[in-house]
Amino acid sequence: MVNFDNSYARLPEIFFERIKPAPVKDTNLIRLNWALAQELGLDLKSRSDQDLADIFSGNSLLPGSEPIAMAYAGHQFGNFVPHLGDGRAILLGEVIDRNGKRRDIQLKGSGQTRFSRSGDGKAALGPVIREFILSEAMHAMGVPTTRSLAAVMTGETVLRERELPGAILTRVASSHIRIGTFEFFAARENWEGVKRLADYVIDRHYPKAQLSQRPYISLYESVIEAQAHLIAKWMSIGFIHGVMNTDNMTVSGETIDYGPCAFMDEYNPATVYSSIDHSGRYAFGNQAVIAQWNLRIFGASLYRLLGPDEKRAAEIINEQCSLFLDKFNLFWNHEMARKLGLAECQKQAVTLVQDYLELMHRHDADFTLSFRYLSDAIEERADLRNLERLFANDSDLHQWLRRWRELLTIDGRPFSEIRHNMRAVNPGYIPRNHRVQQSIEAAIDCGDFSKMNLLLEILERPYEDQPENGEYMLPPKSEEHVLQTFCGT
Ligand code: AMP
Ligand code: MG
Repeated sequence: MVNFDNSYARLPEIFFERIKPAPVKDTNLIRLNWALAQELGLDLKSRSDQDLADIFSGNSLLPGSEPIAMAYAGHQFGNFVPHLGDGRAILLGEVIDRNGKRRDIQLKGSGQTRFSRSGDGKAALGPVIREFILSEAMHAMGVPTTRSLAAVMTGETVLRERELPGAILTRVASSHIRIGTFEFFAARENWEGVKRLADYVIDRHYPKAQLSQRPYISLYESVIEAQAHLIAKWMSIGFIHGVMNTDNMTVSGETIDYGPCAFMDEYNPATVYSSIDHSGRYAFGNQAVIAQWNLRIFGASLYRLLGPDEKRAAEIINEQCSLFLDKFNLFWNHEMARKLGLAECQKQAVTLVQDYLELMHRHDADFTLSFRYLSDAIEERADLRNLERLFANDSDLHQWLRRWRELLTIDGRPFSEIRHNMRAVNPGYIPRNHRVQQSIEAAIDCGDFSKMNLLLEILERPYEDQPENGEYMLPPKSEEHVLQTFCGT
């Protein structure tokens, strides 16, 4: 029924702990992502909901599964922690999907492991719902991300700031290897382990590096490129990860570990949602610099493989990290030019983007709608009421629009085409924090999952007009504002 093909479990034992998911009490399926199950080639159609709940809670282990908890370390808020690892997650195994891609299937919230430290190994319902919604919305917007295959109630209570219903998320990733996985071996001066892992990652994610004369530098470069692309994507849609610790950054370039993350409503680069981020380390506008910081740590873990000696390795790390910012800026400018409907990212486009962001900041304008409504403002005689409302009818807006239209005219494409292209990159529907919160509260307080399900359905089509769901486009009213999100660990 599931054709596992487990490669990570073939690595030396120091890479993981072999451990089975803890049985849970009373399983109940919340949601199964059928489209993803199909993509993975999982044959689940004949299974009852109870069967599915047992499978995706870990109560019944699928044949071929070789459950392991992965070892990793990481820098958390800048401080090194040598011993992290899957403290509440268990990798069931890997499958080759319909496109020939290797994918991990992992349970999150499935009990204690060697890496749990003082944690209970469990997950509360709220964070499971949040991750499900956010990751699937990100996927629908074309952002590389881990996916959510299933969510199950466990019938247990977990103790957080209060007693909460327990749940388990089944997460799918192109792999769960993190920068922190490399740090785990480097911190133990286990250079053989670093090399083994690097070879594994090259083989699994960056096979072209094998052809390079310097495969490990090529690996480093590839991760840098993937992350530059990822962070530019995040920022182009107003996403704030919230906890960009090195253990929450994949080498594949997929978004991972949706904890206290959120989409920004009104534009402000200093926006922070995480309740534990007191200094604003992981604020919206800091994300590129933090990614660069993390990639420096990645380089340092690889240094033995990068150059003949420490000095040369340090030079390579510096070069690559400075290239990261160049690449990020290229991707960011490209994404933002597309958001403005411009084919080429000329210098004027960069200035135009900066000026628009500044205008948004000055008016606390909603990030998502400022771009979405722009596609209705291409023609001079357009109805600008929606846009004007966001900017308090500032004359600067009109001046900006004139400059923008001039550039569009130079571009010379038909308005209808520009509008079409803009609407395909500027979502109308994002997982707004207050909507996510409402879905979570309905589930916890009333056992009502209809809000979660509706939100997920809306977010599958982020670029479409959905007049019946128009209110889901809107930012929160003042009483609906959610200022912080919590890890839920
Ligand atoms: P996070 O902040 O969620 O990325 O997790 C950081 C570390 O804490 C990882 O090693 C997790 O496995 C571990 N962890 C988080 N929550 C729990 C939990 N409830 N029980 C055990 N370990 C946990
Ligand atoms: Mg994590």
